[in-house]
Amino acid sequence: MTATEDKLDRVAEILRSGPRVAALTGSGISAESGIPTFRGKDGLWRQFRAEELATPGAFARDPRLVWEWYDWRRGIIGGCRPNRGHRVLANWEKRFPGFVLITQNVDGLHRRAGSERVLELHGNIWEMRCPAEGTVTENRESPLPELPPRCPRCGTALRPNVVWFGESLPAETLQGAYAASAACGLMFVVGTSAFVQPAASLPLLAAERGARIVEINPDITALTEAADFSFREKAGEILPQIDARLDGGAAQ
Ligand code: NAD
Repeated sequence: MTATEDKLDRVAEILRSGPRVAALTGSGISAESGIPTFRGKDGLWRQFRAEELATPGAFARDPRLVWEWYDWRRGIIGGCRPNRGHRVLANWEKRFPGFVLITQNVDGLHRRAGSERVLELHGNIWEMRCPAEGTVTENRESPLPELPPRCPRCGTALRPNVVWFGESLPAETLQGAYAASAACGLMFVVGTSAFVQPAASLPLLAAERGARIVEINPDITALTEAADFSFREKAGEILPQIDARLDGGAAQ
């Protein structure tokens, strides 16, 4: 038995013992669907970094430029499908009572994979918000016919309903994420570089309250040291292997 197989067996055994389970995902879980991560080598758009475009200041200066970037990203995401990692987490929502999925992703792929209760900490790229009225609408048109899109009632330039650098997270969603992290006995941390706060602090809170932490990420992160189990592999490889071990004991 390899070291990885041994770890897979041990994680599956803990899962079968019935702890409360939570998962925190980042853009890495969608990488295998073809969506670039921000910090990966494919994350650049024209000469810009995400940190220069996903800000209230950038939108105030040049809403059209910011929307061109979002329109480009919506085009990529619209052509991608959920992968095996998303699907396993969607099944676990049905399998484990009280399972909570917390995501930093804005791509909506967890919902498309069948997850119904998802705490989207950073919003959703398929939603638009009117800064004047505060109203949120879903819009899946891609490409968008007009940039920036405008509120049909008041004509104000709409913004993507996502959280930008320097903005606060939606309070109720964040509360839910803190509560789930504090209450879980096992937390999966999947595909996040753990740079962006406060999401990165959730696994630390869970660990402080006694939860075991399983990290799945091809790279070492700031959270690796705090993890009880670290898989240096892709989410779409590891999650299905854990899932396969749940019914019949250790996989052969
Ligand atoms: P990040 O880009 O900082 O880090 C991605 C992490 O995923 C890296 O640590 C990388 O090693 C890992 N990774 C790459 N491929 C993987 C795979 N196949 N399986 C498992 N892990 C893999 O992303 P972040 O930590 O989510 O933070 C960046 C911010 O960017 C978040 O706020 C998020 O909202 C936003 N973002 C979202 C999307 C999306 O919705 N898909 C895409 C890019 C960025």
